[in-house]
Amino acid sequence: MNNPTDPHEPTGCRWIDGHPGQGHWRYCQQPQQRKSAFCPEHHRRAYFDPRKREEASQEPGE
Ligand SMILES: [Zn+2]
Repeated sequence: MNNPTDPHEPTGCRWIDGHPGQGHWRYCQQPQQRKSAFCPEHHRRAYFDPRKREEASQEPGE
């Protein structure tokens, strides 16, 4: 069988899922965001610290 999308051949998002050092990995391959090597979700993960996002999402409620 012929898989048209080789998980090791970047055709979209360059986010690497897994452990390249151990041989188990694949590219995300989602459609890339404009001017980014990543899809919108991974672009955010690559360029914004998750902790900052957590702080930013804290609503001044209660
Ligand atoms: Zn992605």
